[in-house]
Amino acid sequence: MTDDDGRRSSTTWARTALLAMQRRGIPPTPENYLVWYHVSADSIPTLTRLVGALDEQKLAYDDARNWELYDRFFGQDRERSHLRSISDQVQDHLAQISGLISQIALGTRAYGESIASLASALDDREGGQEPDNLDELNAALANLCDDTRAILERAGHWEHAASTHADEVWKLKQDLDDARTEAETDALTRVGNRKRFDRRLREVVEACAASGAALSLIFFDIDHFKSFNDTYGHPLGDRVLTLVAGRMVAAATADHEVFRYGGEEFALLASDAALGDAVEIGETIRKAISGLRIARKRDSEPLRRITVSVGVSQHEPGEPLSRLLERADAALYAAKNSGRNCTSIKRAKRAVA
Ligand code: GH3
Ligand code: MG
Ligand code: MG
Repeated sequence: MTDDDGRRSSTTWARTALLAMQRRGIPPTPENYLVWYHVSADSIPTLTRLVGALDEQKLAYDDARNWELYDRFFGQDRERSHLRSISDQVQDHLAQISGLISQIALGTRAYGESIASLASALDDREGGQEPDNLDELNAALANLCDDTRAILERAGHWEHAASTHADEVWKLKQDLDDARTEAETDALTRVGNRKRFDRRLREVVEACAASGAALSLIFFDIDHFKSFNDTYGHPLGDRVLTLVAGRMVAAATADHEVFRYGGEEFALLASDAALGDAVEIGETIRKAISGLRIARKRDSEPLRRITVSVGVSQHEPGEPLSRLLERADAALYAAKNSGRNCTSIKRAKRAVA
C-alpha cells in the first residue's frame, strides 16, 4: 500500500466512524471517536464483533456503554499515558528539589563565610589589637546581621518551596497507587485481574509460609459459556460475568481474594483455609451461582441457569507456585469431566519417606 492509499483509507475510516457515531447518537468525544475509528477500520476483530452484537440487539449506546467499550479496548493506553504523566511530574519535582538543595547549599556557605569573618575579627581582638579592629568587628557584626536577616528570609522561602514539593509529590504518590490499583482491576467485573492474581499469589504464599497458615486456591469456570453467548449474545454474557464475580465477592470473607483469572474463569485465594475449608467455600459459591435467576431486561424472559465447575487445591509449603496452579487446574478439569456444576479437589502427592 502506498502512502496515498494509506491516507485515503484513514480518511474513509474517519468519515465512516463519524457517520456511524452520528447514526447511533454517540457524542463525538475523543474516546468515542477512537473506538469508532477502530470499528470502521475493523482493526480489532473482537471489538467489531461486539459492536455487531450490540447493534443486533438494538441496545442503547448510553454513556455507560460507550465508556465500557473505550475502557475495555483502550483502557491500557489511557493507563500508560497517565503513568507517563505522573512520572514526568515526579521528574520535574525532583529537578526543582535538586535546584532548591543547591540554592540552600550556596546560601548556607555564604552565611558560613560571614560567620567565619566575624570569628576572625574576634580572634584579632582577643590578640589585644585594639582599637583598629573594633571597626572591623563592628563591620563584621553589621554584615552578619544583614546576612542573618537575608538567610532567614530565604529560609522561609525554601521551607515554603520544600513543603509545596512534598505535598505535590505525596499527591503524585497517591495518584500512582490509584493507577496501580486500576491497572490491576478487571474493567468489566471490577475484581482483581490476572496481573493482581500473580502478584498476590506470590505475596500470600510468602505470608502463609511465615505465619504457618494454610493456603488454598480455588478455580471457578462457567459451564458451557460459549453456548450461552451464542444463544443470548455477548453483552448478556458480560452481564453474567459481572453477576458471577459479584456473587463470589459477596461470599468472600476478609481472608479471601477474588480475581478474574481470564475469560470466564475466576480464582479465589483463601488464606487460613485448608483443603476441607476451601471445598466448603467453593461449594457455597457454586450453590449461590446456580441459584441465580437471570431474566432478560427487554422482555423479562428467564434465561438458562448459570453453573460453574470448581477445582480446589492446597499449597504445600515449599512447593513451586506452578505446581499449585497445575493442581487447581487439574481439579477443575476433573469437575468438568464429572458432569460440571460440581467441585473437585486435587491433593498434592506427598513424598514417601
Ligand atoms: P466449559 O463448560 O467446558 O468450560 O465450556 P465453555 O463453553 O465455557 O468453554 P470454552 O473455553 O469453549 O468457551 C469459553 C467462552 O467464554 C468463549 C468466550 O466467548 C467466552 N468468554 C470469554 N471471555 C468473555 C467475555 O469477556 N465476555 C463474554 N460475554 N464471553 C466471554
Ligand atoms: Mg474456560
Ligand atoms: Mg467455561
